[in-house]
Amino acid sequence: MTNEQLQQLTEQWSKDYFHQVFNHRVYFNRRLQTTGGRYHLSDHHIDINPKMIDEFDLDNLRGVVLHELCHYHLHLSGQDYHHRSPEFKLLLHQVGGARYAPATVSVKTRQSKKIIYQCLKCHATIIRKRHFNTSRYVCSRCGGHFKLISTS
Ligand SMILES: [Zn+2]
Ligand SMILES: [Zn+2]
Repeated sequence: MTNEQLQQLTEQWSKDYFHQVFNHRVYFNRRLQTTGGRYHLSDHHIDINPKMIDEFDLDNLRGVVLHELCHYHLHLSGQDYHHRSPEFKLLLHQVGGARYAPATVSVKTRQSKKIIYQCLKCHATIIRKRHFNTSRYVCSRCGGHFKLISTS
């Protein structure tokens, strides 16, 4: 999807769901990693993580855009635009915006489990996704046994 298509969709969704015009800019921003989108108070533009459409679908993109539009419309009408405000929660609920962006592949990978073992003999460390039996599995470098260092 192009920025221009995103712009058109956002303008349309603003009319359909908020009955108000969106007359600022919205862009895909690849630098967004963990968030689905961001509304900028300074110049009222919105950034959207392109993974919200690349890894998910149009419904998901709409949920994320509607979330940012809640910040946008509340801010421009002088209301409390913060996540914790009752106005924000009510508006988000009314338009059916997403409360949280779904975890992208890169976020999931980062969040996935890391189990670290260290060889007792040569002190080499290895990272595994699953636990293994330390009495059976030995170090390929020196034949030493491993001990569990940390689980995250
Ligand atoms: Zn938000
Ligand atoms: Zn070793």
